[in-house]
Amino acid sequence: MEYETLAVLSGLPQDPHGAVGLPIYAVAAYGFPTLEEGARRFATGEGYVYARQKDPTAKALEERLKALEGALEAVALASGQAATFAALLSLLRQGDEVVAAKGLFGQTIGLFQQVFGLMGVRVRYVDPEPDSVREALTERTRAVFVETLANPALFVPDLEALASLCEEQGVAFVVDNTFGAAGALCRPLKWGAHVVVQSLTKWASGHGSVLGGAVLSRETPLWERYPQFLEPDPKGQVPWEALGPRCYPERVRTLGLSLMGMSLSPFHAYLLFQGLETVALRVKRMGENARFLAEHLKGHPKVKALRYPGLPEDPAYPNAKKYLASGGPMLTLDLGSQEGASRFLAALRLLKAPNLGDARTLLVHPWTTTHSRLKEEARLQAGVTPGLVRVSVGLEDPKDLLALFEEALEAA
Ligand SMILES: *Cc1c(COP(=O)(O)O)cnc(C)c1O
Repeated sequence: MEYETLAVLSGLPQDPHGAVGLPIYAVAAYGFPTLEEGARRFATGEGYVYARQKDPTAKALEERLKALEGALEAVALASGQAATFAALLSLLRQGDEVVAAKGLFGQTIGLFQQVFGLMGVRVRYVDPEPDSVREALTERTRAVFVETLANPALFVPDLEALASLCEEQGVAFVVDNTFGAAGALCRPLKWGAHVVVQSLTKWASGHGSVLGGAVLSRETPLWERYPQFLEPDPKGQVPWEALGPRCYPERVRTLGLSLMGMSLSPFHAYLLFQGLETVALRVKRMGENARFLAEHLKGHPKVKALRYPGLPEDPAYPNAKKYLASGGPMLTLDLGSQEGASRFLAALRLLKAPNLGDARTLLVHPWTTTHSRLKEEARLQAGVTPGLVRVSVGLEDPKDLLALFEEALEAA
């Protein structure tokens, strides 16, 4: 079935009352009629016991995400940060290494340095090109980590080439597909990624109303190469023998949810489930709006540079055309200086906020906000200049958007 069909029909549970939609199970614990039934649920993991591990509302969301990204399994978590952490933690041990793309989301870099650093895990940053990645791999590399559309540099890596390198080297290829909008814009598993992590807070939720994240994985024999799946677990079973390719998502669930408690609230699972019903429509319209703005603003005398991956002259165009369903909902403008950006943003009658994927157009000045903690040189390396403004295009009428942008550029 096609994406739009799965977005509204997949994951709906069988409801005893025939509810059309997803009921919220606002429940912490699930009872069992007999000691034997309790023992069975604890031993097999079947059925529900306690909402930290598994919960019917989050389960419906997981089923829908699985269908939309073409995954074998999905695990929903409390935020995108929780998803990145649990996805990588499940692959790593002390002394292991990760090769990551330069220019990642700022808090991902923070997580790598401040949290993985505590665990003795080293992260090497490289240009996400096959040759640079190959050079950085060592015997201890357990994951290669990239983003579908690096922000604000708007770089799209060659997912298929990186996946085939990782496959050949026996290393997990993990893609942060937040910008892939739950598969509506990009489905990295299809191109060979082993694992997808994503923040559902952005386009999947669609209204900037809740936090959520997910880890998805595909069918693969790769886990047979990781010692954590070949050694007996605390129950005495060897994960790879007992679960096959499901041993990885099961470890994400055990570590991220059961043991660390980064569980998604059923109320948020409900809103995210609903958000997914319209994500394809929203992302399509946002892409059309972004293209309209890009085409009309690219020659503007006040715009020093404009980046939009959907324009044929854009450096990201070849990979965007191959991997994304459209040019996407993001563009950046360079106003030439911080003063220019400041005057433009002050005059622009739209919202300025460090979020993405909202129904409303949101703008941010990365130099002084999202990237302000990085040294100047690192900012410039990440494509962040003092005049750069990042735009997450919303659902407003494109003619209104253009008029508002032109009005503010006049003042810049
Ligand atoms: C927002 C974001 C995250 C973190 O997600 P939260 O839901 O805010 O925790 C991770 N990666 C990318 C690319 C993001 O944009």
